[in-house]
Amino acid sequence: MNFSKYRIKPGSRVDLKKWDPDDRSASPDSKEEDHKRLTELGVRLNELQDILYAERKHGVLVVLQGMDTSGKDGTIRHVFSEVDPLGVQAVRFKAPTEDELAHDFLWRVHPHAPGKGEVVIFNRSHYEDVLVVRVHKLITPAECKRRYAEIRNFERLLAESATVILKFYLHISKDEQKRRLQERLDDPKKQWKFSRGDLAERKLWSQYMKAYADALGATSTDQAPWYVVPANSKTNRNLFISSVLLDTLEGLKMRYPPPQENLEGIVVQ
Ligand code: AMP
Ligand code: MG
Repeated sequence: MNFSKYRIKPGSRVDLKKWDPDDRSASPDSKEEDHKRLTELGVRLNELQDILYAERKHGVLVVLQGMDTSGKDGTIRHVFSEVDPLGVQAVRFKAPTEDELAHDFLWRVHPHAPGKGEVVIFNRSHYEDVLVVRVHKLITPAECKRRYAEIRNFERLLAESATVILKFYLHISKDEQKRRLQERLDDPKKQWKFSRGDLAERKLWSQYMKAYADALGATSTDQAPWYVVPANSKTNRNLFISSVLLDTLEGLKMRYPPPQENLEGIVVQ
């Protein structure tokens, strides 16, 4: 499947109402078939991660953004379930601490950027600083615009330092969020995840959609593209992200490095 139509064109004007969160093109088969497929993709992802680590030519940064319950945690659990835990690192960004707030907004993010051979997944990211912060008017529109440019420059720096960057916006509908929040309220194993604040943020849905749309349009670049992932179906979401990640890694044409010395004739006694 070709995912390029889900990629935001640099500088484009985005209207998220035009993107269908129920689209299931990445998940065409039965549930069982699709789960089997996800495992197969996961096994291949693990192989490529091993070569990535051995070769040490590229780093990989996966950015996950989306509204509450959009499935950021679930994506990490399912897409990377076959990958060696030593080979990936997931980083979660919460509301900034006092110390973090005393610095520029990229200060807390940069140390987590992947080195060559590493895969890092951001569960939320520096984008919160043009999303939640903008919706709550903690920055002016002019500051927000400046931050888009700062983000583009930051990501260009990473890309020029051999980092492959993929950014996924997990697109769910407001109705789907309602179902998932209600599920959290009703399931004793999920209740701990619920906070009243989630309802306050939900009330700001349309402001968030506008903030997302503007951010995606302003910060999608050829080196660090945004994908809009139809995420009402969890299977579709997982297969979509897994496939884009694999296509990208396959495109790097990575190879195991040759042995460091001539191994001919060496026999272990
Ligand atoms: P969760 O993803 O449910 O663990 O929640 C993390 C919370 O931290 C969310 O409500 C985010 O909006 C918030 N958060 C993350 N980064 C920032 C930021 N830079 N500024 C303000 N809030 C943030
Ligand atoms: Mg939350």
